[in-house]
Amino acid sequence: MVLDEPVSALDVSTQSQVINLLERLQAETGAAYLFIAHDLAVVRHISDRIAVMYHSRVVEKGSSDQVCDTPRHPYTELLLAAIPDPDPLVQPGKSARRRALSVGGEQGVIGAAPEVGCPFANRCPHVMDICLDVFPDALPIEGGGEVRCHLHTTGPVLNGAPLSEMPSP
Ligand code: SF4
Repeated sequence: MVLDEPVSALDVSTQSQVINLLERLQAETGAAYLFIAHDLAVVRHISDRIAVMYHSRVVEKGSSDQVCDTPRHPYTELLLAAIPDPDPLVQPGKSARRRALSVGGEQGVIGAAPEVGCPFANRCPHVMDICLDVFPDALPIEGGGEVRCHLHTTGPVLNGAPLSEMPSP
């Protein structure tokens, strides 16, 4: 079953009821869902595996825990930073982190992805010369996932490691 943004327009309480219903239906029928959404918190809750897309390209995929706990792609990291935190003492720090992770603002350049190279290049704080010309190959990562980002093969050479292991400049 393909579910395209099934809960994005709903308030949190109704979202929770719909997700619970979907989980019950899945348990009873064994149905598989292709769940499409922008909110990674909701996606993680209902998914076994996640594929992160940016401008129609899959830039990272893997198990839900792998993608959400140890992101390898800067866009995944940005999506995770965009998840609101109910703690008013934590949220300002998250907002500042989100701004730092996206050059060019959160929404301003979404419609203007480069035609060649990495589609995230005009928003990425780590952009390198190669990113402007070459779309990254898929690099397999431990656990059956993959990532498409030159950080793993050029510059810091993460080689499939999480972004949290990137050395400081
Ligand atoms: S390929 Fe380059 S521009 Fe694209 S996400 Fe990786 S570092 Fe950023």
